Amino acid sequence: MPNYVFLLNTDKTPLDLIHPARARELQSKGKAKVFRQYPYVLILQERVQNPVTKLYSIKIDPGSKFTGFALQCGQDIVWRMELQHRGETIKAGMEQRAGFRRGRRSRNLRYRKKRLDRRKPEGWLAPSIRHRVLTVETWIKRLIRHCPVECIEMEQVRFDIQKLQHPEINGIEYQQGTLFGYEVREYLLQKWERKCAYCGTENVPLEIEHIYPKSKGGSDRVSNLTLACHACNQAKGDRDIRDFLLQKPSTLERILKQVKQPLKDAAAVNATRYAIVRMAKGLCDSVKCWTGGRTKYNRCSQGLEKAHSIDAACIGESGQSINLRTHQPLLVTCKGHGNRQARRVNASGFPAVKRAKDVFHHVSAGDIVKVSIDKDRKKVKAGIYTARVKTPNKNGCEVLINGNRISFSTMKNVHFVYRNDGYGYVFSDCEILLNTPKYSKISLPDAITANYQAVLARLSALEGAK
Ligand SMILES: [Zn+2]
Repeated sequence: MPNYVFLLNTDKTPLDLIHPARARELQSKGKAKVFRQYPYVLILQERVQNPVTKLYSIKIDPGSKFTGFALQCGQDIVWRMELQHRGETIKAGMEQRAGFRRGRRSRNLRYRKKRLDRRKPEGWLAPSIRHRVLTVETWIKRLIRHCPVECIEMEQVRFDIQKLQHPEINGIEYQQGTLFGYEVREYLLQKWERKCAYCGTENVPLEIEHIYPKSKGGSDRVSNLTLACHACNQAKGDRDIRDFLLQKPSTLERILKQVKQPLKDAAAVNATRYAIVRMAKGLCDSVKCWTGGRTKYNRCSQGLEKAHSIDAACIGESGQSINLRTHQPLLVTCKGHGNRQARRVNASGFPAVKRAKDVFHHVSAGDIVKVSIDKDRKKVKAGIYTARVKTPNKNGCEVLINGNRISFSTMKNVHFVYRNDGYGYVFSDCEILLNTPKYSKISLPDAITANYQAVLARLSALEGAK
């Protein structure tokens, strides 16, 4: 079952999403026309007076490589999308540029005035991270334009580093294991790889351990905490770590080094999430933030498979019992807009080779076209394909079909569909999902059930308090 279809009134105000069969009917009777290909939007040809629409919420699960999107109306999930980011590509590109610059500057020895105040402005995000915020913003705006959106719900907290920096974990709250204690624990488990820091034992209950003992003035900050098995914790007691590990200098060195390293990935994910929430608040009056614990609980308790858009659908209270009306999410890949480089650089980093013209009969790189292939070519069978243009030049254009480059020297069999907007589009293989109409049940391990039931109660208290 594919995604539902967006529908606009004649004045471009959004109406309710419609079933794909209804969309086909409207089109075949000439009552609606295609307004946009990706996402698929139809526009009515005759005006509906005073339309009454349902209300939809956009649900977003931001991640470092993928961001899941889902549109929910009541209990129904009517539209899903998975956005693949290109942070790695951006990072590689920036590093390459830095390398070229370094090379040039160390070579030609001309005097440069020292540049003052090279501090980053407040709220600065690395380009690879900022791209995540910007692309999510683009898609929220697109959805708001095409659908009557009431609120945005997103997963904000995985590890709350801001809270971790100001821990109030001494005393009752910590010992009784509120959610906050839970987050600290999760953070430490990740950071210390679920092992005892002293002896490396795995798969045993681990206790939170102060590296510099509290009795000797050690703090409760997360940077002073580690995990130890019961035996090691008891053996160490309130001795100083240097004293305790006198016989094992290598272990001591490793622990002191690791303790200073923040959980980099979590920090980056959190920086992005806070920025995304701030951005969303500028786009929609109602933005609700939830924790990752609840998402996982909702997904597991309904026996749903792990997918980014399903995670998005399971966010928050409304994700407790959902009805998936679409089994074919739109898969979107961030492709960027190429570059504005006038000349390519040679092996030494100097601008040298003039850039080739990359347009063929108004078709440029990244455009989506429909091509018809008369007879089998390379590994591609004859037929009609929708695909992305790879490298056009004055002699023709190449189109990427199932990973094979097929070149066309005329426009006879190439029909323009969609102008490049920086994204590549594919629908997930519908057949596979249709053959398994019910998602395979994943049972929730007993330990998790017990733990999460308790956590869920705490979650409600914490989320209510916000
Ligand atoms: Zn141990």
